[in-house]
Amino acid sequence: MPELTKKQARAEVSLLRKEISRHDHLYYAENNPEIPDADYDKLMARLIELEQLHDLAVPDSPSRRVSGEVAEQFNPFAHKIPMMSIDNTANEHETREFDRRIKRFLKTEEEIEYILQPKFDGVSASLTYVDGELHHGTTRGDGKMGEEVTSNIKTIRSVPLILAGQGRKPKLIEIRGEVIFPKSLFAKLNEELKKVNKKLEEENETLLKEKKNPKPLKMLFKNPRNAASGSLRQLNSSVTARRPLHFYAWGIGGCDGMDFRDEFEIYEILNRWGFSVEEPKNCRNIDEAIQHSMSLEQRRDSIDYEIDGAVVKARSRRLQEILGATAKYPRWSVAIKFSPKQVSTKVIDITIQVGRTGHLTPVAELIPVKISGIEIKRASLHTEDTVREKDIRVGDTVIVQRAGDVIPEIVEMVPSKQRRKEQFLMPQVCPRCETCVEKEGSFHLCPNISCPAQIKGRISLFTSRNAFDIEGLGKKRVEQLINEGILQNIADVFTLKEEQLLNLEGFAEKSTKKLLDEIENSRNISFEKFINSLSIKHVGTRTAQILAQEFKTPENLMKAKSEDLILIDGIGEELAQSIIRFFENPERKSVVEALLHQVRIEKEPEPYPENSATAEKTFVLTGTLSTSREQIKQKIEKVGGKVINSVSRKTDFLILGTNPGTTKLKKASELGISIIDEEQLKKLIGL
Ligand SMILES: [Zn+2]
Repeated sequence: MPELTKKQARAEVSLLRKEISRHDHLYYAENNPEIPDADYDKLMARLIELEQLHDLAVPDSPSRRVSGEVAEQFNPFAHKIPMMSIDNTANEHETREFDRRIKRFLKTEEEIEYILQPKFDGVSASLTYVDGELHHGTTRGDGKMGEEVTSNIKTIRSVPLILAGQGRKPKLIEIRGEVIFPKSLFAKLNEELKKVNKKLEEENETLLKEKKNPKPLKMLFKNPRNAASGSLRQLNSSVTARRPLHFYAWGIGGCDGMDFRDEFEIYEILNRWGFSVEEPKNCRNIDEAIQHSMSLEQRRDSIDYEIDGAVVKARSRRLQEILGATAKYPRWSVAIKFSPKQVSTKVIDITIQVGRTGHLTPVAELIPVKISGIEIKRASLHTEDTVREKDIRVGDTVIVQRAGDVIPEIVEMVPSKQRRKEQFLMPQVCPRCETCVEKEGSFHLCPNISCPAQIKGRISLFTSRNAFDIEGLGKKRVEQLINEGILQNIADVFTLKEEQLLNLEGFAEKSTKKLLDEIENSRNISFEKFINSLSIKHVGTRTAQILAQEFKTPENLMKAKSEDLILIDGIGEELAQSIIRFFENPERKSVVEALLHQVRIEKEPEPYPENSATAEKTFVLTGTLSTSREQIKQKIEKVGGKVINSVSRKTDFLILGTNPGTTKLKKASELGISIIDEEQLKKLIGL
């Protein structure tokens, strides 16, 4: 490349800066990038090169986002207008009281207009722009004084270094917002830190041998807020630059030379200046605010950042001024707290549950607590290793959450000095049948297939909706009939006699007859449900479906060899072995044969129209493809798949055309979604 004159270099640098800022805006504020990341990196590399070569670096250059300054410490910084915390309300009653307080203060009966925004659970920050240029980025600190973290703030690509747009810019303005760490990338960060630690441990071994001091290990982050805070408060800003932080603007502090009518106008202007902003909900009164808050709470798990509540603000700025603040809080704003997703409780006992395939699972019995309205009494601890890893003992106080808002899980124990000394140990024998426990990998197994606990589990599955669907035989009745010795295996269900049942507690004449009728009517079953009803280890509904399509009849399946099985798509070595072992066992085989005398397998409908690899799978298309998207969509739908527009955790495949969109591609690889090209798609859907 020929040498540039200083003038030429200056011109190119100026162009590059504009171009990079434009791409930053497209990427973060509009979520619609024009160029792949690699091209963006090239622009940035060229800019840094020119700035260094021709001594053109300036503080507001986008190159500052990656160059990385190392600070000795963070300097204190006084906010022009304090960042006050806001009052919380824990329930609807308190939220209405907030509205009534305002009306009393204003001596009015008229409805107050509000806006509602998500309350981000990140790190609050304040950005000071002077004549449209970012001058300071600071943390909230104690509300009056924050810490200056400007060079770190500049590495966040969703922070505009210069306020975008043509319109008038205030002389000085403090933009208030939240630095957050996306939930979807959080687990990955800890995984990376674990890898770093592994390497450090190896290095430390050598260092210790050489009698040198070991290097400290990296701390893992507890939650996305921790990660945001830890990443923002790095003395070396190149570390911050590598973290995928995001800045959401939610309001303004001090402002010189510009007036805003109301909160919605603030939102519109922040948006225009290039900030990431969530459009606030307009609420004509407190009822609407409460409603919007509830629907936000319902959506909170589908949003990629943590929110722990909703902020209600009086919409009019003039009203805000009149209302002012108490010593602690502004009078015109309140945060509606969402119900906590984590609560603490105590472990009363650790019991052992024996499943239908013989797995022993430790279960924490808890003092009942409510999470989002649901009472939690027990939480699975999975394996002995999990209990050891989390070091949970009877009597411990623990933090419980509902994972994906359904299954309760123990996050961690709260350390305390007064704990039991004994660590948890798995029993040597099955708590139900006292057979010696065997170990399989990290699992403990009761090898006795006549174990009452296993029989109970198997019969419960046998009568469930995914198998014979006998509603009258719920878990309680199954337990009772096992204890009475009437049910010993799944085939016994179909030989139950009226006289066996009538003398038992809870079996009146009418209900007994009803149950027997129901059993009689359930003798016809699809092959798929039949396979599922057998409790073959590792075989769930999905595998049962595949096996039914492949083998068509029980006889074929029972004769199957391991080499036949592993050839089937979706069946691996372990699964194949488990199926073979199941039918090799004479006791199990005779139960299946007895059962086959009792039931009738319905013929499978002609070849399943849905290809097993694509049925119910979700596809996203990106880039240019050889035929129209509509045609490809139809082909995918024909084999039972679904085409949607954007990549999420629920996506199974990203189909890559030429010139793909970088957002989709990036998101798919971050989420570990299979990325395939058109050729691979054709194979998959059998074209
Ligand atoms: Zn047992």
